[in-house]
Amino acid sequence: MNREDFPILQDTVHGRALVYLDNAATTQRPLFMLNAMTDAYLHYNANIHRGVHHLSQVATQRHEQARQKVADFLGAQSAKEIIFTKGTTDSINMLAFSFGEAFVREGDEIIVSQLEHHSNIVPWQMLCQRKKAQLRVLPLDANLLIDTSRLEDIITPRTRLISVAHVSNVLGTVQPIHDIIRIAHSHHIPVCIDGAQSAPHHMVNVQELDCDFFVCSAHKMYGPTGLGILYGKEQWLNLLPPAQGGGEMIEHVRFEQTTYNQLPYKFEAGTPDFIGSCAFGAALQYMDHIGRQDIYAYEDELTRYLEQQLSTIDGVYVYAHGIEKTGAVSFNVFQGDRLLHPFDVGTLLDQQGVAVRTGHHCAEPLIDYLQVPGTIRASVAMYNTKKDIDRLTCALQRAIQMLA
Ligand code: PMP
Repeated sequence: MNREDFPILQDTVHGRALVYLDNAATTQRPLFMLNAMTDAYLHYNANIHRGVHHLSQVATQRHEQARQKVADFLGAQSAKEIIFTKGTTDSINMLAFSFGEAFVREGDEIIVSQLEHHSNIVPWQMLCQRKKAQLRVLPLDANLLIDTSRLEDIITPRTRLISVAHVSNVLGTVQPIHDIIRIAHSHHIPVCIDGAQSAPHHMVNVQELDCDFFVCSAHKMYGPTGLGILYGKEQWLNLLPPAQGGGEMIEHVRFEQTTYNQLPYKFEAGTPDFIGSCAFGAALQYMDHIGRQDIYAYEDELTRYLEQQLSTIDGVYVYAHGIEKTGAVSFNVFQGDRLLHPFDVGTLLDQQGVAVRTGHHCAEPLIDYLQVPGTIRASVAMYNTKKDIDRLTCALQRAIQMLA
């Protein structure tokens, strides 16, 4: 699907045509997005929201159009609910700080799950340390899915918020977030969904999900680095204090007291990445042009093929085998009882031009739970093909022979 739109895919690595299967870490960028970015720098580079001059007005208009595109993409009720951040990590840190200031007191509790990315653990842990609150952990079931049957036991009258991944960045598994949101809401507890791995591969509709917050990163969705989204329901965002102070987020500043701007600007202190937002808007436009439903159906087929092909190789153990996945598959290679170190396998794959991710994938608590030093993760995007996956399995078989 449209490989020629991604110039980097024509490159060679160690003399072999590049097979890029590390899309869960970051996707490659289409020329359409890169051109939009250059165009913004060349033709409407001016600081936004402040200028009466033409360039500033064009830049402001493009930035706000991009915000509306993101709102449409995520199914938000209003563009006011879309806050531009630096990425998923920044979004969660902002939320943890702001929500913590308003709603978390000593003895309160925040719930995350065993399979979270560090970005969805550490900001909550820091909040808990700051407020003398407690971090509670939802366990996994036998299928390595978040065990929703345990949620009622873990929720207490002190639970203030639940934050979980939509799709595991390690396993690629789709988590039962509908149930989590339903149960949490029956206790009037808000839910934050870490959508870093779902927004690139799923029709996400935050209103249908009824999640209170949703976060994702542009660089995993064919967009620029350094840009992310914090979605929040308007009624929640109105209740939260700004996480940072500075220009743009204010209404009036006096030494005695400052009043804050309206949504979403209250949460956007300083000059925002207005070039990045326009480029992200172009990336979303590119996905729409190809057809999001078609992209997602194609990626699902590729993910199934990936799991199937890996499972046929002697000694390969696929985690959460047969469980619904999107975009990524994690595995390890065993020779008898001996685990081939994921780093060694990944290095041998790289020498054959195949890029995968190895290690703890920024989810050490999950890797500890799996009792391995790490996994090998292959992850797909719209431009991958079954041929790429065949190159991976072929290279993997060679690597296994070499390590025998
Ligand atoms: N959460 C998940 C599930 C992720 O996959 C990632 C990126 N690997 C993050 C959070 C952090 O995203 P970023 O590094 O773009 O802030």
